[in-house]
Amino acid sequence: MTLILPASPVSETTTNRRRIRLTSHPRSTGATQPSPLVWGAPTAAGRGPVVATLTTPERRNAIGVHSGSYGIYRALAVAAQTLDPDHRPDLTNTAPAATIGPFEGWRDASKIVSFDPWGHLVSEVFADKLAEGWDIRPTIAITKAHVQMPELRDAVLAGRLRADGEVLLANGDVRVTKAAIEPVWWLPGVAARFGLEEGELRRTLFEQTGGMYPELVTRPDLEVFLPPIGGMTLYFFGDVSKLGRPETRIACRVHDECNGSDVFGSDICTCRPYLAHGMEICVREAQAGGVGVVIYNRKEGRALGEVTKFLVYNARKRQPGGDSAAQYFNRTECVAGVQDMRFQQLMPDVFHWLGIARIDRFASMSNLKSGALRDMGIDIVEQVAIPDDLIPPDARVEMDAKKAAGYFTDAVPDGAELAMAKGRGLAD
Ligand SMILES: [Zn+2]
Repeated sequence: MTLILPASPVSETTTNRRRIRLTSHPRSTGATQPSPLVWGAPTAAGRGPVVATLTTPERRNAIGVHSGSYGIYRALAVAAQTLDPDHRPDLTNTAPAATIGPFEGWRDASKIVSFDPWGHLVSEVFADKLAEGWDIRPTIAITKAHVQMPELRDAVLAGRLRADGEVLLANGDVRVTKAAIEPVWWLPGVAARFGLEEGELRRTLFEQTGGMYPELVTRPDLEVFLPPIGGMTLYFFGDVSKLGRPETRIACRVHDECNGSDVFGSDICTCRPYLAHGMEICVREAQAGGVGVVIYNRKEGRALGEVTKFLVYNARKRQPGGDSAAQYFNRTECVAGVQDMRFQQLMPDVFHWLGIARIDRFASMSNLKSGALRDMGIDIVEQVAIPDDLIPPDARVEMDAKKAAGYFTDAVPDGAELAMAKGRGLAD
């Protein structure tokens, strides 16, 4: 017997909000069915909207809530009575500031499994349902901005970049289009990407989040999960309308968040120098008529988090013999149990979303990133290493360790080189 359970809300109306309703239990009156979702369907209407809001609970077809980890702040705002739980966004004038897609990959359920390819077009493609009162929320937003980075101004002063009044302005500003993307996991596709049984993935997600999402195990009919994790931001350089055309040259940096370096300029790693170098390459490609894309993933500290990262820094610097490349990954593994949890398998999704099948210049030395892209059928023509003079001295430990572990390089360091302490001590 198949028991069809409704997508029940946590709470329903203002009058009975005090009653807690478990999401895995059927509603007491009038069983309803969630809105159907056909992942990878050729049209938005055929695919159907992802409905994860709590204001139209009977239509929910996803596990979790919008905004990733910020859903907790939303709950706090409701608890503190500063946010009306029934508030619906007014989407007037919020439409994308540039057009992206639709592309072929949007219609292939195996190509994009970690976010909703139609997420920025909600107001347009589901206008009829919104007009009927459905609460459907965008999971992608696209806007435009100017970015000002001292490294890019230095590149102009050094003669590596020139202002053209289009991509790079005379005052050093760089014109960009940018997109913010929230994670929307289609669980059958995520499981397949990792070679897992979907049931095993769902059970592990349920157990390892302390049972936060019971529907993962009680509602196999709900295939979409909005995980409470960070999303990604894309920065585009040049004319985004050229995306999806095979003749368009693409320069790209895939960057995983490192707040210490990216924002504060901490010098133990090469993250910000590599980010700035990637942006420089993107500007140059855009000026030559191509498109540059920086993909910024919120996966702090190899997705281990910043507390783990700082613990590892201390362990590295206090170990006998000092901070050396030979012990770099071991120290991470001692604290975290693994070397890395970024799992690049989901990263190529964004290229399918952008209609990119070939990257002409890839500003990364990571074999994990390039391997994941090639596994998903995306060609990399040239892998661009970070210039040596952009590597801070304290970051030599990291760079040598990564080269020894398979990073793209023409000079793999030997054992003696790796054993040499190169990082600063904690007191220096
Ligand atoms: Zn870093």
